[in-house]
Amino acid sequence: MISRTVISIRGAVQGVGFRPFIFRLANEMKLNGYIKNNSIGVLIEAEGEKKILDNFIIQIREKKPALSKITGFEFSFFEKNGYTSFNILESEETPETSAFILPDIAICDACIREMNDPADRRYIYPFINCTNCGPRFSIVEAIPYDRKNTTMKTFKMCPDCQKEYDNPNDRRYHAQPIACPVCGPHVEMWDGNGNVIESHHNAIHKLVELVKEGKIAAVKGIGGFHLVCDARGDEAVINLRERKHRIDKPFALMFPTLESIKEVCYVNQIEETLLRAPESPIVLLKRKSVPVKSVSDFCAPGNPELGVMLPYSPLHHLLMKELKNPIIATSANISEEPICIDELEALNRLKNIADYFLVHNRPVKRQIDDSVVRVVKGKVMMLRRARGYAPLPIELESDSNKIIFAVGGQLKNSIALKIGKNVFLSQHIGDLETQEATKAFANVIDDFRILYKVEPELIVKDLHPDYYSTKFAENINIKSKSIQHHIAHIASCKAENQVKGCCLGISWDGTGYGIDKTIWGGEFFRIDDVRCEHIGTFRQFPLPGGEIAIREPRRSALGLLYDMYGGSAFNYSVIQNNFSFEEINVLEKMLSNRTNCPLTSSVGRLFDAVASILNINQKINFEGQAAMNLEFTASANETRAYNYYIYNDSIFRIDWQTIIEELLMDVNSGVKNSIISAKFHNTLIEIILELAKLLNEEKIVLSGGCFQNTYLLNGVIEKLEQNNFKVYWHQRVPANDGGISLGQIAASELIIDNYNVKCKIGIRK
Ligand code: ZN
Ligand code: ZN
Ligand code: FE
Repeated sequence: MISRTVISIRGAVQGVGFRPFIFRLANEMKLNGYIKNNSIGVLIEAEGEKKILDNFIIQIREKKPALSKITGFEFSFFEKNGYTSFNILESEETPETSAFILPDIAICDACIREMNDPADRRYIYPFINCTNCGPRFSIVEAIPYDRKNTTMKTFKMCPDCQKEYDNPNDRRYHAQPIACPVCGPHVEMWDGNGNVIESHHNAIHKLVELVKEGKIAAVKGIGGFHLVCDARGDEAVINLRERKHRIDKPFALMFPTLESIKEVCYVNQIEETLLRAPESPIVLLKRKSVPVKSVSDFCAPGNPELGVMLPYSPLHHLLMKELKNPIIATSANISEEPICIDELEALNRLKNIADYFLVHNRPVKRQIDDSVVRVVKGKVMMLRRARGYAPLPIELESDSNKIIFAVGGQLKNSIALKIGKNVFLSQHIGDLETQEATKAFANVIDDFRILYKVEPELIVKDLHPDYYSTKFAENINIKSKSIQHHIAHIASCKAENQVKGCCLGISWDGTGYGIDKTIWGGEFFRIDDVRCEHIGTFRQFPLPGGEIAIREPRRSALGLLYDMYGGSAFNYSVIQNNFSFEEINVLEKMLSNRTNCPLTSSVGRLFDAVASILNINQKINFEGQAAMNLEFTASANETRAYNYYIYNDSIFRIDWQTIIEELLMDVNSGVKNSIISAKFHNTLIEIILELAKLLNEEKIVLSGGCFQNTYLLNGVIEKLEQNNFKVYWHQRVPANDGGISLGQIAASELIIDNYNVKCKIGIRK
């Protein structure tokens, strides 16, 4: 099948023979499309077989002209356009060049070479950078991007640096963060009280020593502090978990080399490209099932994947070169709070976590976490969009010049700003549930207003009245509009995939405020450019305790069983075994009086209920944990599914009663969890296929946190494509609530608002 890839390349790619190179390569590979220069580099569209396009992407990076330097490389896949030849097009005239603030870029090969060269004046200097690499977004204070508008403004360039900075033939011509050991920032090692123990290169030696000893250090990086410890020693990792209050959510790892990653994980070519890319994200990789000494079991307990990255700052390179072992490198915070960026703040907030602090005097202007990606069916899927990608825009097919601001959701919040066709998406901010997080959220909003110097005409927000972001939007004196959460999910996926016309949107997640004020999360919409019809949902069940149920899958199980069997639900062993006598008393009253038992159609909660019935998780400590564990349990070789019913009472309503009945029978007859979980997943896949057939829309758009489940996502894509549907899923924007802000803007642009949504649900039979 012919598909089309759109590749945006930034860096020194103009006037270095890049366009003729691409022209030749495309013709050699018999690809059609075009290349043109634009305001930030070059834009390429190429059409051909998916496999050839994958190879094209790899060849560009490997064979690029000697003088070119790539500092950003984003690509996504779309439907074919029908190009019949490959052309070099005239460049676009773009007046708004300055509006593009570039992301932080991993250290380039030339700088690594100099840093390792004892004869170079920047030998082992941890702030080496050039026009092709180094910090950008994390140091910009205002536009235009000049040294005086960055956090480097307090460092006066020495004559040697000034000479390079002023010389158009130098690699550091106008490199704003230019620095050297004479004039630039330096590192220091502090103890827990902020006393300097070592400085300059000795501080890095000391860090290596401390990590080897099993100590936990807070290390100031590009977009904030990491907490770092040896990934090999169980004791250090357990220690970090206890201090960070992170019971078993996986930690990200930094490996010294690609080869050392390959000893532990499977790495395909696209994954390798990502690991070595200037964006240098955390890539989720499948673990090899061989025992390894380099990674403690406590890094990602029970998880078949590891989140890994390579060193991306000069400091990381110096550290990893000497250490030669993988380390945990996790955002420095307590649970889901924003990452720490300032020394004094770090000393204060991390005093009970880190034994030592590796700090430096180049201020970080704004918090930017590491980005997280995975590869799904040969395409990149963004899970957390931050360093390396933010604040690059997603282009909308929009003719309106309205300036729109979106405040996003509550969890995994990000914000977005639309200027012209471009939607500038902020970095991942976090869950707006702590003071630290709401402060960070307000800072990013101020930040965007100052950086882009625009006043929005419209603010878009979630329909949920209690979200911090919603209330914040309501306190700004600008016209605002609410977009229903699950519509925003679909609109974001539709927008980034440039899906035109009518489609079936499937929006499954943990929770979102419905138009009928119940909790949605298993929704189907027929959605085009002007209208949106709520066309399908799941049978609802009560969630005893409301919010608490999110952290206790056992409550979803109880709600489900109660909806099926009334009071006799309490006789089931899953309830008997997992609630105390006192709890059962309270819950019985709660459910029979319907107090604090909101109704939900959430698929996320259905996953929770099944995970509880299978005794996989009764309580969880991070979002999506039970569903993740249920996914990991599923056998890959089971093809059977459970029976389900779909009713049509003004909306298609999926009834899960038979699923749960048959599942309970399996449990009673001792069927293995791996089989039951697979059958449950297969059932959800069949439900999607059946509804797709019933509604007969050719295009199917998948969004919401549930589609981070690869068993579900892969299964749905395969089944739908076998049946000739066109399936779209997320590539550049997260499927989770990190994508909500883009969706809010896209939905408001499509004139879809909640009043256009036909909705008759929430009525119980
Ligand atoms: Zn460089
Ligand atoms: Zn200097
Ligand atoms: Fe959501």
